Amino acid sequence: MGNDSLWTVPPAEALRAGPGFRLEELDRAGTPGWTGDKDAAEDATTARGADLSDLQERLFAHGRTGGDRSVLLVLQGLDTAGKGGIVRHVIGMVDPQGVSLASFGVPTPIETSHHHLWRIRRALPQPGKIGVFDRSHYEQVLVVKVDELEPPEVNVRRYAELNRFDEGIMASGTTLIKVALMVSYEEQGARLRERLERPDKYWKYEPGDIDTRKKWGDFQAAYQEMFTSTSTGTAPWHVVPADHKWYARLAVTELLHGALAGLDLGWPKADFRPAVEKRRLAATMAEPDRVSTERSDDSSTPEQARQGDVAASEKKKKNPKKKSDKKDTKK
Ligand code: ATP
Repeated sequence: MGNDSLWTVPPAEALRAGPGFRLEELDRAGTPGWTGDKDAAEDATTARGADLSDLQERLFAHGRTGGDRSVLLVLQGLDTAGKGGIVRHVIGMVDPQGVSLASFGVPTPIETSHHHLWRIRRALPQPGKIGVFDRSHYEQVLVVKVDELEPPEVNVRRYAELNRFDEGIMASGTTLIKVALMVSYEEQGARLRERLERPDKYWKYEPGDIDTRKKWGDFQAAYQEMFTSTSTGTAPWHVVPADHKWYARLAVTELLHGALAGLDLGWPKADFRPAVEKRRLAATMAEPDRVSTERSDDSSTPEQARQGDVAASEKKKKNPKKKSDKKDTKK
């Protein structure tokens, strides 16, 4: 794709929080790896949409035919960082039927009565789905830590627990993409001011956001510690500068695209014989449609016919006395 050349370093690499990563050095208005401007980024995002949609459909089809793969996009970020915009503009490019979105706010009384990972486990994507976590299990080492909602000795154990949890979900077939959207203090101030100035944005404003903003330094320290302790070789954090929404959306689009493409999923083989089914369908049609459906028989390549035959015979082996088979033989 033409816009690929505007990436000098692939985003998965440019944004990865590797050993020695220092959050304080991050330019939050930066565009790591990308040399294009806003217009080029928006074009590139839109252009990726078609690929993304195709890959998502393959994943969905894979899940529908017994596959165990899924993808989980974890989105972290302080208020106004743009998590909602990612869901709307990036995830919005794929079929919503293939997406399971979970938002994690202050735990309810029922959630609090369970282990903190209870609500997270229940929200993990089923095979074939793209899961999106708007905030996640990582709030446990962010707000919970900053607001001292757990005793300090418990916090120490959390990093290892979160790493084990991530390993477990990956072992069960989920490709994990961890994204932290990092907005600057100034940009957060500007976005909050806009929410207060525009009646159509009041609904997004929470007076509590100012209290959280006052703890900016503590949150930055908590994010730094989270990156240091949980950005592992197998489940790295991608730290995305978020002052330019167009960059953040492009970067997450690319990360998601890379994860889906990495699954290398083809289309599931037919578990029936396409040629036979076409003849059966033709038999139910009026003359002109029947002829063209029968003719389309000839268009199956030998490979397609073989695939259909192999899949059909495998299905028969597994399930020799299926009702529909009986019906077929009667006809
Ligand atoms: P957002 O700010 O994510 O766009 P929002 O303002 O609508 O969404 P909610 O979804 O209601 O807010 O909840 C988000 C809040 O819940 C955040 O302040 C977050 O820190 C808090 N939260 C999330 N997980 C936990 C947790 N495990 N313990 C305590 N508070 C949490």
